[in-house]
Amino acid sequence: MKIYSEEHEIFRSSLKKFIENEMEPNIEEWEKNRQIPRSLWKKLGQQGYLCPWVDEQYGGSGASFEYSAIFIEEFAKANIGMGIAGQSEIMVPYIVSYGTEEQKAKWLPGCTSGDLIMAVAMTEPNTGSDLKAVRTTAVKDGDHYIINGQKTFITNAISADVVFVVCKTNTEDDSLSNAFSLISVDDGTPGFVKGNKLNKMGMHMEDTGELFFDNCRVPTSNILGQEGKGFQYLMDKLQRERLYCVIWGQSMAERMLSEGIKYAKSREAFGQPIGTFQHNAFKIAEMATEVELGRTFTDSLITDYIQGKDIVQRVSMAKWWIAEMANRIGYQAVQLHGGYGFMEEYPIARFYRDVRAQTIYGGTSEIMKMIISRTLGF
Ligand SMILES: Cc1cc2nc3c(=O)[nH]c(=O)nc-3n(C[C@H](O)[C@H](O)[C@H](O)COP(=O)(O)OP(=O)(O)OC[C@H]3O[C@@H](n4cnc5c(N)ncnc54)[C@H](O)[C@@H]3O)c2cc1C
Repeated sequence: MKIYSEEHEIFRSSLKKFIENEMEPNIEEWEKNRQIPRSLWKKLGQQGYLCPWVDEQYGGSGASFEYSAIFIEEFAKANIGMGIAGQSEIMVPYIVSYGTEEQKAKWLPGCTSGDLIMAVAMTEPNTGSDLKAVRTTAVKDGDHYIINGQKTFITNAISADVVFVVCKTNTEDDSLSNAFSLISVDDGTPGFVKGNKLNKMGMHMEDTGELFFDNCRVPTSNILGQEGKGFQYLMDKLQRERLYCVIWGQSMAERMLSEGIKYAKSREAFGQPIGTFQHNAFKIAEMATEVELGRTFTDSLITDYIQGKDIVQRVSMAKWWIAEMANRIGYQAVQLHGGYGFMEEYPIARFYRDVRAQTIYGGTSEIMKMIISRTLGF
């Protein structure tokens, strides 16, 4: 299965150079600062890497999904900028699909140039998997909504200029098809307060935080799409989000495998490279097989997505299996490194920490299995 043409590969190699020169040398500093600077967003925007699929009239290149897949793959192989790639591939699609012309003109140019940072806020302290239990409300008051509630674990939360907040707009009818809406809130709106940046076990350079809404008034024109249809929009866009997670997890697994192989060839014990002990060679063979299976699955999903096929069942399968597989690869790759695998100077330590979140965000492995079993009639 060949997805990428020569032109795609040219794009990949220039992006790779950018990552090598402008991003990888800063990993330590960004991890320490718990933040990727805004200047990186702008540099990426200047080079045309952000939202390449968005129409040219808004600053994109109108590029096909292959370019998005390459963008996600290369960021994930470096394990940098999950929030940046996430904005391009998870958040901006909401605006393109459901925004009015006015909203598109207001937000998209900033997303493609890197001047605007966005977040999508679904999760709350009391609910993540069960979106029906969302408590944040947006009550209409003339031509405004008054938002009250709290969100947590939100990617890009602290730096966000605009947040799309999942709110309950219909407190009487709490059916998923009518109760929820997506409403944008600009940074600086009275009643909108950003909480602390959360102290995570990994993904240290990623900005993940809490958001509070206390009688926060926003114009009714801030609604994205139709009132009450938010859940439908989420269900639609979560497929692309899960494909993003699949590509990200698979690419991390590939990088971790290559780090494991590289180390197993260079490290000697008992007078021979550690990879030549049969146990380790077999482990590597198993890892390579799992990674190959994941790649085949990922590429077939990318192809299906490009062809406009319904991917709900298969993307849910891939989301849990690849996330769990990537965790197994991370575990084994650390083991191959021995004590050095536990040291920050080797990239595998950071990858091992960060890959853990793969089975959780974008829908947990258990929720993916629930979706799959439903598609099978259970
Ligand atoms: C790094 C990171 C970034 C994130 N970014 C965002 C973001 O940008 N926006 C956003 O809105 N959210 C974000 N999240 C939140 C993420 O989507 C949620 O953490 C996730 O959906 C799980 O929700 P929860 O944490 O409330 O866990 P819970 O829903 O409380 O689940 C706890 C455990 O119970 C299991 N469980 C729940 N229900 C069932 C069931 N029916 N059957 C079997 N098991 C079940 C879960 O699988 C899990 O193992 C992020 C999370 C992380 C870690």
